[in-house]
Amino acid sequence: MLELLRILIQIIQPFLVPICFVLAWGFLILIAWSIGAAMRDTVRRAKQMHQIPCTDCVFFTGDYHLKCPVQPKIALSEAAINCPDYSNRNLTSTL
Ligand code: SF4
Repeated sequence: MLELLRILIQIIQPFLVPICFVLAWGFLILIAWSIGAAMRDTVRRAKQMHQIPCTDCVFFTGDYHLKCPVQPKIALSEAAINCPDYSNRNLTSTL
């Protein structure tokens, strides 16, 4: 069995260096690509989360028991991005 393995290694010996070279660089490229994809996804998610308008809304209570009495099911979630009841707190206070 060991003799067979030794023969097999001798056969593929000339190809080991190029194969390892390609595998090593492929692994590094895969890691870099994964990190880039994760960063892109994080930025996209952060942009989407910053579109949630609740913290600037006049109906937002800041109390975690009842965040919003008008739309309690969607308050502070992605569903609130186009909330029909949104009213800007800053614009309301200046009127
Ligand atoms: S009314 Fe809409 S935008 Fe305002 S706090 Fe409630 S869910 Fe958020």
